[in-house]
Amino acid sequence: MAGILFIISAPSGSGKSTLVNALRSQLGGLDFSISWTTRQPRGSEQNGREYYFTTREEFERMIAAGEFLEHAEVFGNYYGTARRSLDDATAAGRDLLLDIDVQGAQQVRQKIPEAVSIFVMPPNPKVLRTRLRNRSRAEGHVDEAVLKLRQDEASKEIENYRQYRYILINDVLERAVAQLEAIVQVERMKQDGMPLDPRTKRELEIAEGCREVNSRERLRPVLESFGIDPGDGPHQYPLL
Ligand code: ADP
Ligand code: 5GP
Repeated sequence: MAGILFIISAPSGSGKSTLVNALRSQLGGLDFSISWTTRQPRGSEQNGREYYFTTREEFERMIAAGEFLEHAEVFGNYYGTARRSLDDATAAGRDLLLDIDVQGAQQVRQKIPEAVSIFVMPPNPKVLRTRLRNRSRAEGHVDEAVLKLRQDEASKEIENYRQYRYILINDVLERAVAQLEAIVQVERMKQDGMPLDPRTKRELEIAEGCREVNSRERLRPVLESFGIDPGDGPHQYPLL
């Protein structure tokens, strides 16, 4: 059976990589798609582990050759998912996780509407600033211009939150990891047509709590802190 395609997006510094690493240490059967990028390696990043680092020329050659499932320009650099990542996971029947920005997520959703999309939000701009700065310090290089660019982009990315099937607020790490894990488990159970026992019922409750329609009260202060009107418009993913 074909695996499930998970897409996870978040403003830079929200804690997406931290969440994904924690998830993968707890759940098996989930491949991570290593993206291609033209940005420089950061901190201890290694080619072929966090990203495949390449030049603009090579990236543009790959675009022309149709090698990307999706690609986008983010913060002045190219980022893209090779079609091959998905082909390999599909052939092996494994679930695949894409960590991509909102533009890339839109492209993938158009091609693969059944993909399960998850948006991660930081609790407010102050926390986001602190996380971005702490990460830069830990990596030994604080570039104020890069930090500002990433902070300024956060609100624009968050405006797209309704396009995602699930929304997580990464405030308390353990809770956000548990929510992410529940979402993956529930989607797997749905795919397998498994009945709900008392344990899986709990997971279903947690996952359903991450639907926009069920988390409006929790989302309101987060959206307002980023200057976004929570509104009352239609949501893209009504409850089952
Ligand atoms: P992203 O992948 O979204 O850009 P990272 O996973 O690199 O973000 O996290 C940014 C920084 O925030 C890291 O220093 C990480 O340790 C920290 N962080 C992530 N989640 C939390 C959390 N829930 N509470 C406190 N710090 C966090
Ligand atoms: P970073 O430079 O912090 O690793 O990533 C910056 C942004 O690029 C993040 O929002 C991340 O999700 C996004 N990104 C990483 N890989 C890809 C990719 O393959 N495609 C797209 N569209 N975005 C990506």
